[in-house]
Order: sequence, then structure tokens, then C-alpha cells
Amino acid sequence: MKTIRDFDLKNKKVIIRVDFNVPIKDGKITDDNRIRESLETINYALDKGAKVILLSHLGRVKTEEDKIKNNLYPVSIRLSELINKEVKFINETRGKELEETINNLKTSEILLIQNTRYEDLDGKKESGNDPELGKYWASLGDIFINDAFGTSHRAHASNVGIASILPSGIGFLIEKELKMFNQVLENPKRPFTVILGGAKVADKIGVIENIAPLADYILIGGGMAYTFLKSQGINIGKSLLDEENLDFCKTMLEKYKDKIILPIDSVNSESIEGTGRTCFINEIKDNEMGLDIGYNTVKLFKTYLENSKTVIWNGPVGLFENPEFAKGTIGLCEILKEIDAVKIIGGGDTGSAIINLGFKDAMTHISTGGGASLELLEGKKLPGIEVIKDK
Ligand code: AMP
Repeated sequence: MKTIRDFDLKNKKVIIRVDFNVPIKDGKITDDNRIRESLETINYALDKGAKVILLSHLGRVKTEEDKIKNNLYPVSIRLSELINKEVKFINETRGKELEETINNLKTSEILLIQNTRYEDLDGKKESGNDPELGKYWASLGDIFINDAFGTSHRAHASNVGIASILPSGIGFLIEKELKMFNQVLENPKRPFTVILGGAKVADKIGVIENIAPLADYILIGGGMAYTFLKSQGINIGKSLLDEENLDFCKTMLEKYKDKIILPIDSVNSESIEGTGRTCFINEIKDNEMGLDIGYNTVKLFKTYLENSKTVIWNGPVGLFENPEFAKGTIGLCEILKEIDAVKIIGGGDTGSAIINLGFKDAMTHISTGGGASLELLEGKKLPGIEVIKDK
């Protein structure tokens, strides 16, 4: 597959699809990690004398109000600070001003186009990969580089649409993400342990089916653990239950009985704002919900993790947003910090939890794409990358 290194970028109009889908509150960016993750590719293109045109989405745009909320202008300011260079910003996704600004770009100048999803307001043109829109955006450049890992599991006009037309390659961030996941999925150093958590079993079915034959152990925590426990006849009180998938859990536990490890204790409460009561797993009361794994489960999981050479983690093992139920997730972070293994964290909630809890440096890689990394673990192909591979 071609990467940005395979192109002569000098004086070329290079469209880079980045993932600037950052959280913004009252016009202020609260976490600029995704902007920072795109800098290597952007700086490389500028150093090589490209005329850089950046495209990104930000949130969803369904109403005129969403346009105000999801305006990329603050990102252009932050990017400009980070690269120490003027970033031109065009407050539209097509039109004369945009075309003229691009035609007047000089070598090593950089421009950010307004949120690609403004095009969704009138018939989902971006998210529906409208061919005319892809063609129009492709007409603005000479080369296309996809570096938005977080959207590569979607076929949108700003990735698949443009890549179907222009000479295309991937940027350094997508290259790094693929290298990390492929290394683990193709030839993991063993023992290979997977930690799965998060709310729903339904969201993780594909991952469990694909990864169970590959992994040595699967440690299950979080809301999803309670459906597994219930399938074994354990009373889970008011804990999260994914009734439809009870049979799936039962079947998986039979098929992989030596691989799947379930919690042996639980931290419970009558409400998610409440304080926790820890008990053995068969002592959850009818009016309680299980909101975290207990201390004994952390210790049990440690016996598997401390010998592991590869660990993939997707989904927090408790309702970590309330510190009362974050102890299990923190406990696992502390174990991972100590072990010498390849440690890969899926994006989304687990990624932000680990960064916010201060364990970023303890991990080998924290993915920038929640949905995309989940689909890789499910063994699926990502359309935003396949389109470039096929060229
Ligand atoms: P997911 O997006 O599926 O990875 O789920 C992440 C969410 O699962 C987080 O918001 C957690 O608060 C939530 N979660 C984790 N454990 C539990 C639990 N035991 N009960 C309810 N929610 C949970």
C-alpha cells in the first residue's frame, strides 16, 4: 500500500484527510490529542514543499444549529499554534472562495476547509459518499493522503470518494495504527490476553468471535460481564443485562471455557451516583447493580496479565465516570504499567479513560479510533484503507 513517502509532494496540492473530531466546549478544545496525532503527516508534507489542504469532519451535522456547534474554526487556531505557522481557514466546503484560495496557495502553505459534514445537511452527501461531492473535492488537489484512522471504517466522500479518483496513499498515523493491530492479530507474542469491558455484549460479539480463537485468555469485566454471569445462573440484581445475547454468552463460555475469565467479585450500588458495596459474585442483591469489578477480580486478572506478552484492551471494566467505580479500571492500568508486553488500547472510552487517569505512557499504543479499532479486532476490512490498497 502506498504511503505519503511514495509521492513527490513538491509544489503539489496535497489533500490530507485528518481526524480533527475533537471535543469542543464553549468554543474551546478540551482535548487536542487528535490534532497532535496528525502533526507528523502535516509537518512532513509542509517540509516537502506541498500545498496542504486539510479536510476533516467534526461531530454530526443534522441541523443549522449543529453547524454553529461543530465549526472547525477553533481547530485551525489550535493547529496554527501547534505548527507555529499560519493556517488559512475557509468557512465553506465548496465554492469560489475555496477554489481561489487553493489556487493561490504557495509552497508549504496550509489551509483547513470547514467541517466536511456541513455537506450532510442537504442529503447526507459526505456520509453517504455522494459521487459528485467526492469528485468535486478530488478536483481541488493532485494527491490524496488519508490519515484519519478514526473514520477509516466508514466510506465517506472525504475518504473513499476522493481516494477513488486521485493518486492516493496513507499518512503516518494510519500506518502506525495498522502496524500495531496487524502485528498483534497476525503474530502475537504469547501469552496473548484480551481485556474486554464496556456496556453492552451486543457491541463486542464480533470481537469475541474473531479474537477468541487467537487469544490465550479473555478477561471480561464492565457491564457486559453481568450477562455472561447471568448465563451461568448467577443473580445479577439490576445490573446491565443484554437479554438477547444470553445464549451467545452461554455458548462462548462452553466453547472457550479455559480462555474466558469472569469476575469473582463485584462492586455494587442501587444507583450510579451512589457508593459501592463489594461482594462475592453470587451475593449481588436484587436491588443492586454491579458497577465495577472488585479487588479479588483485579488480583485474579493479574495472574493472567503478569505473564502476558501481548495485551489488547477494549472497554472500561467499570463505570469509571464515577470515581467510586473506577478502581477496577485503575487497578488494571497499574498492573499493565508494571508488565513488559505489547499493550494496545482500543480507542473511544477506554483510550480517554486511560489518558485521563494518567497512564498514557504505560501503554505501547492508544488507538485514535474507537469504531475503527473495534472493526479491525472483528477482522473486518476498513473501506477508507481498502480503497487505497486496491489502487
Ligand atoms: P463501551 O462504549 O461499550 O466501551 O462502554 C463504555 C461505557 O461502559 C462507559 O461509559 C462505562 O461507564 C460503561 N460501563 C462499564 N462498566 C459498567 C457497568 N458495570 N455498568 C454500567 N455501565 C458500565
